[in-house]
Amino acid sequence: MIIFNYIEQIKICLSNLKHSGKTVGFVPTMGALHQGHISLIEKAKQQCDFVVSSIFVNPTQFNDLNDLKKYPRSLQADCVMLEKAGCDVVFSPEINEIYTSEEIKLMQQQIEDKTWMLDMVVDFGMLDKVMEGAYRKGHFNGVAQVVSKLFRIIEPDKAYFGQKDFQQLAIIRSMTKQLGMSIEIIGCPIVREVDGLAMSSRNTRLSKEQRELAPVISIILFKSKELYQSLTVGELKSFVEKEFNSIPQINLEYFEIVDVNTLQPILEYSQTQSAIACVSLKLGEIRLIDNVILY
Ligand code: AMP
Repeated sequence: MIIFNYIEQIKICLSNLKHSGKTVGFVPTMGALHQGHISLIEKAKQQCDFVVSSIFVNPTQFNDLNDLKKYPRSLQADCVMLEKAGCDVVFSPEINEIYTSEEIKLMQQQIEDKTWMLDMVVDFGMLDKVMEGAYRKGHFNGVAQVVSKLFRIIEPDKAYFGQKDFQQLAIIRSMTKQLGMSIEIIGCPIVREVDGLAMSSRNTRLSKEQRELAPVISIILFKSKELYQSLTVGELKSFVEKEFNSIPQINLEYFEIVDVNTLQPILEYSQTQSAIACVSLKLGEIRLIDNVILY
């Protein structure tokens, strides 16, 4: 496995490969890797000749400076995991390799105001007006900005994203289409711990007590999947909200039942659409998200 820090180097490596007709699969990450990330590498490995992963903690997608500062970083251990999983190339750039000095200046001045970031003509319509988009101002602009930059550097045939970040997956699909990029976006299932907690880099920041409590998130979500046929959407939402609100350590941000394609809240179940239940909450200062497809 080769590790590149510079765009010029990785571009030379990849252009040689592409000339020999090899297909490239790409897995963007922010590091602090776990089996969820590795499942994306494994999928890419099955479907492509050559697998590239990036490790870059992208400041522009954080709307909370404290969260950015405390985001776990473990580059060496990450590289060991990637190599074991069969990753061929890692791209691990410094911030000034991805952003211009002008962009970095703006970033430092305007942590909270992300409107300067959209250097591309992309309108997510209603996709980014709900859930994560509503709670994390500028988050998806930051995600789209860095992923579009990485796509232009790597130029993969396929790119792999987890359904754990279901809304992000929809945003990336929309962005790729709007920018006319011929990259196939592959969504991969959520990988969970044995006790059901969705794997997340942020889980390492949970205290022992918080970690013990955290599986309740997936327990309640899976209960909602069992109950949806016997309750109306409104009843199910109230039930789940009550369950979360009855746990003092949990600060529920949202529980939404939305259409899997439009991500807009559904008012009643219908046979012509699939629905997904999405939750975001805080356990102490750690923000966790999870979801389950209802039908
Ligand atoms: P991150 O490093 O958090 O930006 O995540 C990089 C990629 O890994 C994203 O596409 C995530 O959706 C995906 N991912 C994170 N956690 C999981 C998980 N538990 N299962 C599957 N994919 C995941």
